[in-house]
Amino acid sequence: MENLHFETLAIRNQTAQTLQKEHSSPLYLTSSFTFDSAEEGAALFNGDAEGNLYSRFSNPNCDEFTNKLKVLENTEAGIATATGMAAVFVTFASLLKAGDHVVASSAIFGNSLNILKAILPNYGIEHTLVEVDDNNSWKQAIKPTTKLLFVETPSNPTLKLADLTFLGELSKANQLILVVDNCFATPYLQQPSNFGADIIVHSATKYIDGQGRVLGGAILGKQEYIDKCYEFIRRTGPSLSPFNAWVLSKSLETLALRMDRHCENAVQLYQFLETSEEVEKVIYPHSPNHPQYQLALKQMKKGGGLVGCELKGGKERGARFLNALKIHSLTANLGDSRSIVTHPASTTHSKLTEEEQLAVGITAGFIRFSVGLEHIDDLINDIKQALVVSK
Ligand SMILES: *Cc1c(COP(=O)(O)O)cnc(C)c1O
Repeated sequence: MENLHFETLAIRNQTAQTLQKEHSSPLYLTSSFTFDSAEEGAALFNGDAEGNLYSRFSNPNCDEFTNKLKVLENTEAGIATATGMAAVFVTFASLLKAGDHVVASSAIFGNSLNILKAILPNYGIEHTLVEVDDNNSWKQAIKPTTKLLFVETPSNPTLKLADLTFLGELSKANQLILVVDNCFATPYLQQPSNFGADIIVHSATKYIDGQGRVLGGAILGKQEYIDKCYEFIRRTGPSLSPFNAWVLSKSLETLALRMDRHCENAVQLYQFLETSEEVEKVIYPHSPNHPQYQLALKQMKKGGGLVGCELKGGKERGARFLNALKIHSLTANLGDSRSIVTHPASTTHSKLTEEEQLAVGITAGFIRFSVGLEHIDDLINDIKQALVVSK
């Protein structure tokens, strides 16, 4: 059938039934697959026949997961990786060579930045960092050796947006590869390929799993790029485990439903925070007060499950607020059914000086909420009491 919707594709696009006539896809826990003959084995190894050979190369559970995700991301092909970081690293390692240059936004996941700063220079790959929301700085950073643009939108933790239409056109005009980390939005809220992204990377650990259980990642994009990533994974081994792929493929079945509720809860939370005397500033992409509200409406279907705010009272208040929460979890994750709160100034970014924190947009009282699926009244009541206790 043609023109099926996101929800249907996320559920009905599954591996062919086995002789057992199971309804739900089984878990293929097997390291290798057998050949009917020496000739068939030879053909599989040479790439002259299609089929599974060894689970570092392919596995039905990993294939089901990526076949679904590539359709949801509206791309030609996809490949799964062990983690989100593996997806980011495999993309760089497969598509770049010594002498190449990358332009990336500065507000990206910490370890994506570490790959650019601490690993790629050892292999002769340089980079320039730009402000995610400053189109001109992206343009000016391009050099004759630039090969790839790397961006995360909305960005972490300050929820600034990249202008995907602009980046798609910039990348096309300069024959670059535009890579978008779509972890925060998920394909349900934003499909970067529709704006000209060549590759989409995911940490499936976050909203795609959505329940804080397994690590996983994926790379989606044009066939020629995914073929290169596949070769790299097959040779070097950061493949996704079949068990994690099975969990993640099941999770995709409920992604739309969960994202709708994450977003509904987030809207109620940001609206509450905007009325609170204890809060200086609230950041949510679909709030009319977000500096890029129009852009957010254009490229994101809903505002997402993350809300940022600036508490009055600085760093100590931020830490006291975290300690006073009773329902919210304090943990280094996001996109979970359980609501999570982070205070970058006293945790993830505590090693930076205050000036360095401000340079990446993190003020002393900045709090990031990953709004979960609990009842919103309970979440807001928890925050209310913690605001009082931490005063
Ligand atoms: C968590 C995260 C990653 C890394 O993913 P892992 O699965 O933890 O390796 C990459 N990008 C973003 C935006 C993330 O939030």
